[in-house]
Amino acid sequence: MTIAVFEPFHPIAAIALTPQAIRTLAPLCQTIGATLHLNENQATADAFNLQTYSIPLKDHLTDICPQYRAFIFCLATGAVIRLISPLLSDKEQDPAVLVLDPAGQFVISLCGGHQGGGDRLTQLIAQQLGATPIITGASASLNLPAIDTLGIPFGWRKGQGDWTGVSAALAKGETIQVIQETGSTLWQQHLPASIPFDFGDTPTIPQARLWISVSERQLALPSDFPQVQWHPRVLWVGIGCIRGTSKQMIASAIAQVCQQYHLAADAIAGIATIDLKADEAGLLEYCQERQFPLKTFPPDVLRQVSVPNPSSVVEQEVGTPSVAEAAAICAVSPVASLLVPKQVFKSQTEAVTVAIAQAEREYTGRTGKLWLVGMGPGSLDQITPAAKTALVQADALIGYSLYLDLIAPLLRPGQIVEAFPITQEKQRSQRAIELATWGLTVAVVSSGDCGIYGMAGLVLEDLQASGWDGKTPQIEVFPGITALQAAAARVGAPLMHDFCAISLSDLLTPWEVIKKRLEAAAMGDFVTAIYNPRSQTRTQQIIDAQAIFVQYRAPQTPVAIVRSAYRHDEQIALTTLAEMLHHPIDMLTTVIIGNSSTRHYQDWLITPRGYII
Ligand code: SAH
Repeated sequence: MTIAVFEPFHPIAAIALTPQAIRTLAPLCQTIGATLHLNENQATADAFNLQTYSIPLKDHLTDICPQYRAFIFCLATGAVIRLISPLLSDKEQDPAVLVLDPAGQFVISLCGGHQGGGDRLTQLIAQQLGATPIITGASASLNLPAIDTLGIPFGWRKGQGDWTGVSAALAKGETIQVIQETGSTLWQQHLPASIPFDFGDTPTIPQARLWISVSERQLALPSDFPQVQWHPRVLWVGIGCIRGTSKQMIASAIAQVCQQYHLAADAIAGIATIDLKADEAGLLEYCQERQFPLKTFPPDVLRQVSVPNPSSVVEQEVGTPSVAEAAAICAVSPVASLLVPKQVFKSQTEAVTVAIAQAEREYTGRTGKLWLVGMGPGSLDQITPAAKTALVQADALIGYSLYLDLIAPLLRPGQIVEAFPITQEKQRSQRAIELATWGLTVAVVSSGDCGIYGMAGLVLEDLQASGWDGKTPQIEVFPGITALQAAAARVGAPLMHDFCAISLSDLLTPWEVIKKRLEAAAMGDFVTAIYNPRSQTRTQQIIDAQAIFVQYRAPQTPVAIVRSAYRHDEQIALTTLAEMLHHPIDMLTTVIIGNSSTRHYQDWLITPRGYII
């Protein structure tokens, strides 16, 4: 099965020439959804998504290069350089090019590391294979976010400027002044402490400058230091036009307004108009060509909006005194004000009006994703490779602070990390849905498995309550090793026969219900894993639970008390049902009560399955 995390890099081509390289690449292709290209003499029938070629590899690459966003070569780096160099143009266009050694130990990001996404793909594949990622770009080694990719999660567009100069200044550790006039500041919140950004709090002489704004600045002029500009898409352009106005007329009117007001066309989020114009051919063509969303509003909504330039002629015709101004305001929010009031452009047969309003929050143009990730009991090597790739790739991570600290070594600079206290599950879920609805890829992190007393159910319930269509945001659940498995693994094989899990937390479940389940489990001779056994304030439940089990099981029944399994402060006690309450038990502990045939042997717990009578 292909892991969804790799979809943004598709289509991916993989190239191998030797049997060992094919053995390494073929399963990887399946996981990441890549097409394996093999010479027809080497093609094995069972490879997933296979394409064969009969011409020299160099010529085959020339043929297929335009079709792919990423290439993974499993051959010598020197050979790869010779093969791809004729195919490269510039870093805005180049595909991601990765090299993997045939033993699958190293993944090298060779080319297209930033805008081609190669560095990120390298990290993800390395996580997937347990290989070492080799990324030699300066920002990666300094643990800095790359200047030319930092706006991507928010759908910002790169404007003019000396991108190489500013990236070089960052790599040299020079001070980069950031002037952010609009757009999300979430990217600023988790930068490494050593970051040389100056956000205006320390008056220094800048050595480079980063603008984040709606304005179009002429940065190409000779200046003392390099400057670049990102444009968050916050501008909504209200359009009114007479029937039959051409795409060219609309495009030229908008371009003129942008120029006159020094606004970047890249800062345009979309177009707004009256619903009467939802089928206006020129407008639709314009939107389609630029991939702008078109928001339309009925006249009775538009007429409620107070605008600077109402027109009685327009009102007579379409039932509202304003189309362009009112639609622009409606598109951003009912209380917004206009950045550019109505401008009229006329030719002999065509007429178009343009007004622009600025939204508080940028339009990302992305389909949000919610990844519900189980991070296992706590150590990095107990996280599944798929879950690791999700944690690395997500734009934002949301979870309980203790768990986010445990996975901190996996996180990328500039990734949005929002830690919440232990009780704020509802807030975590709401925030994750909010960010994903906006267009971000959000990982909601739970310890163990996220679908076992974790966040997955809550997020799905909240989505259902909000009328979610099942598609947007997209959901993907990444399973993890749950506490009962982790605890069991540390003490042997206590879960070899029928077992159950019971949480003693009565915050969401009435104690009477929990008691009934404890009795049923005890009576049914289930091996029982107890989650949430005791908190600082909730101390009686574990005492009651033990009292229930002694009614049905022998006092010598083996019990394992496992605290912080797989974490640095792990503690394990093997005891009995009679003695269990004499051991420390807290919220980081899982208690496993054996069934009637569970036994201790040496330092291990065994529940016989029945193979040996
Ligand atoms: N989703 C988690 C469970 C969350 S409920 C999972 O699947 O594991 C929290 C409870 O899980 C804790 O009170 C404790 O009982 C148990 N737990 C979580 N991590 C643990 C660990 N590393 N060692 C022992 N118990 C753990």
